[in-house]
Amino acid sequence: MDEARMSPQRSAKAGKKGDRAAGVSLPVLPEEKAGTTRIARSRNAPKRAIVLIFVQVLIILHIVQWLITGTTTTPIEPSEAMEFGRSGIINAGLIFFAVALLSTLILGRWFCGWGCHVVLLQDWCAWMMKKCGIRPKPFRSRLLVYVPLILAAYMFLWPAFLRLVIAPYVPDLHRRLVPWELETELITSDFWATFPGVMVAIPFLFICGFAAVYFLGSKGFCTYGCPYGGFFAPLDRHARGRIRVTDACEGCGYCTAVCTSNVRVHEEVRDFKMVVDPGCMKCMDCVSVCPKEALYFGFGPAPPKEAKLPAAKRSVQYDLSWPEEIVLAIVFLVTFLAWRGAYGLIPALMAIGIAGCVTFLAWKLWRLLRDANVTFHRHRLRKHGRITAGGWTFCCTAALAVAATIQIGIVEASYHLADRADDRVTVPLGVAFGLSEGQVTEAQRAHARAGLRWYRWASEVRAGGVGWPSPRQPIIDRRRAWLLAVIGSHDEAEAVLEQSKRDYGPTETLMEGLYLAALGQGENERAYALAEATLREHRTYHDLLSRVVQHMVDDGKISRGIDLCRERLDAFPDDARTMGLLALLKLEQGEMTSARSLLERARDAEPEYAGAYILLSMVDLQGGDAQAATQTLLAGLEHNPKSLPLLERLVDLLHRTGRRDQAASYEQRLEEAREAARRDRLGRTRGVAE
Ligand code: SF4
Ligand code: SF4
Repeated sequence: MDEARMSPQRSAKAGKKGDRAAGVSLPVLPEEKAGTTRIARSRNAPKRAIVLIFVQVLIILHIVQWLITGTTTTPIEPSEAMEFGRSGIINAGLIFFAVALLSTLILGRWFCGWGCHVVLLQDWCAWMMKKCGIRPKPFRSRLLVYVPLILAAYMFLWPAFLRLVIAPYVPDLHRRLVPWELETELITSDFWATFPGVMVAIPFLFICGFAAVYFLGSKGFCTYGCPYGGFFAPLDRHARGRIRVTDACEGCGYCTAVCTSNVRVHEEVRDFKMVVDPGCMKCMDCVSVCPKEALYFGFGPAPPKEAKLPAAKRSVQYDLSWPEEIVLAIVFLVTFLAWRGAYGLIPALMAIGIAGCVTFLAWKLWRLLRDANVTFHRHRLRKHGRITAGGWTFCCTAALAVAATIQIGIVEASYHLADRADDRVTVPLGVAFGLSEGQVTEAQRAHARAGLRWYRWASEVRAGGVGWPSPRQPIIDRRRAWLLAVIGSHDEAEAVLEQSKRDYGPTETLMEGLYLAALGQGENERAYALAEATLREHRTYHDLLSRVVQHMVDDGKISRGIDLCRERLDAFPDDARTMGLLALLKLEQGEMTSARSLLERARDAEPEYAGAYILLSMVDLQGGDAQAATQTLLAGLEHNPKSLPLLERLVDLLHRTGRRDQAASYEQRLEEAREAARRDRLGRTRGVAE
């Protein structure tokens, strides 16, 4: 039966049916006859749905505008505010979040009910479920309600704590942190940089929508997962704008029955003359259904002190005993850590949703094994000690969820350990592939072997691990090949890369690995042939091209390098970087005119290509014309104003030619470019794994 039409008696019964469930027992209006009372539908719900849909339309228009014009305002999304703690960036998301927080101090927690897309998703899922006869029942826990607060602190405050309190005592950590510098970033050309792709967004909608609502209640994700709620809820406690009550209230409890945020409205207004629960999202459904029109949103005194007591000290019933609370909090934490960033795909919010659902399933599974009678929603899972067909289905689902979590935990822990061991391998590339002098120490070999062992566990099944195929596997393959090279198994490294190429297709790094593995086995001719064939096909593999040509030059085969560049120019006539490399070879051979003409072609083909200006300036300098060299570099900066190599060359040249004042005017820009390069290296934007 539709919740809005459920009689209070029926509602009370539904509460008692659940196994130790915390049902809401509603009083009855004295003048109503039992069984005839109907709670009116909220007149406010459609209005709120329209507002929430309008918000989604604005978001879509924002994306469309970006797709059409190529640039737009940075995402107006609270998660973007994390950048401020990490690197000092003030973006549109931070400004929006700050305004939402300040308004919460006045109006209470309105944003969740009227502006959040996850609430729209949950409302829609709850509505769909009701249409299917499923009435989401809230899951009440004392400890798990602190998850949003902890998550908020972790996402928004921990980066600042790490930087200000911990990093000063850990020099290595300080070096690895992104520099913190106040900077405004309101416009972006890469709107989607911090959002997950479709392959993650769809399961996210399913888990944070249907699954969270089904297992944890209509606002399950808000209650147990939303980090923004971790800020909104404490601020709401101080807001003067609240749902308040007049003397007309007769305590029927319809308001409580209609509230999907699990607020015990009729008790709170009875005790405090206002709703004090910070879970109240000011959706106004309770105001709308009150038959006595006793509720209203208004300003007045702040909640009394006793209203701020933890809910446990008031008369709230919980689904869990204290030992269960503690065990399930640990299960939640472990599950979250296992899923967070799994395969480099699962964002933190989704991991929270999964952790909430898995924790619920694990708890219910435990109850199913322990108790003689267990129900879930309207289904009997166990009756008089006998597990029903539905119970077995539930058992299998819960066992699968737990098994998947264990499996993913093993994969992620292995990957983490492999990564740590891999980090400790600091052998130069040339030494690992026998291209330059040097020895791999036994300690380095030990780290490499440890890395290989853990990478194997973290791999998909076909590669000897326990994971699923994922976009991370090619990365693991490359790292394994590298570590195999470090321990001297170049043939095995090659086999790993060949398999990866067959499974996932070639990439530049992979082909570079294959090339180096062939060189490592002393098969230079095979390596060159492989590289030549690859470079004839792939225009963008410029790093591989540079490496191969350098090796050819070192090998005394400069003409072969020239032929390779020419072949590439036949295939890709406007490839500026190949022209630049060919010009460099011409310079080696002393053919200045030919080099200059190639570089001018490269500059015209790709005006942003810094290498063309740098090499042209070298040609100018070789001709003894420092002024022309300076002009060439300045011309390059006009097209590529933040180019670090151009700025370095220019400042160096100005110093060497005694023009210190002019050099000083570029030093500030040079510093900024160095800082930007460092930020880039450290990965300024967070990935989906966060
Ligand atoms: S506020 Fe209205 S709906 Fe809630 S208990 Fe009082 S009379 Fe009933
Ligand atoms: S208490 Fe009222 S306004 Fe607050 S969330 Fe519940 S129904 Fe909405």
